[in-house]
Amino acid sequence: MTSDSAVDLDAILAEEVAATTPGGRCAVGKLLRTMEPDHAAWFQAKLRSELPASVIARTLARAGYDLGRTSIERHRRTECKCPTL
Ligand SMILES: [Zn+2]
Repeated sequence: MTSDSAVDLDAILAEEVAATTPGGRCAVGKLLRTMEPDHAAWFQAKLRSELPASVIARTLARAGYDLGRTSIERHRRTECKCPTL
């Protein structure tokens, strides 16, 4: 137990966190960053609404966006790493 064998736990933790959160965001966050701005604004408003995730997912699917209902539900519960809802 010597001080020169000190392990940087924060550095290791940062590596582990980065490894378990590819891109740092969920599918919803990634889609919001890549979809058309108008659609992203619409999607964000609907995420905050009372609309069922399944309805939003089906609407997005018909518009050509491939996003699962569960991704929306997880994002709404803020179980992802997105900075904001
Ligand atoms: Zn998210």
